[in-house]
Amino acid sequence: MVGVCHCSRCRKAGSSVYAYVRAEAFFWVAGRDLVARYAPTPPLRFNRCFCARCGTALGDPFSGRVLAIAASCLDDGVRLTPDFHEYVADSPSWRRPEA
Ligand SMILES: [Zn+2]
Repeated sequence: MVGVCHCSRCRKAGSSVYAYVRAEAFFWVAGRDLVARYAPTPPLRFNRCFCARCGTALGDPFSGRVLAIAASCLDDGVRLTPDFHEYVADSPSWRRPEA
């Protein structure tokens, strides 16, 4: 499942399009030791994870039974179509396409 979050926190994390993957279906090919985490202040729940070498936003590949993986970190060739948008009302005017 793919979702687009328009909230300010996701925008500032450098990604707002997420591929949601069941934790048991996710595995690391390489680079797990390079992942840095920024833990949120409660009541926020999801970590901001990124590559400590290049800074690429990763979403949160560690928390929960369903992981939110930043679609922007996926290599080319992955076909994704958003299934939903959330917090659309929070999207700033500069981000909305003109009608
Ligand atoms: Zn969000």
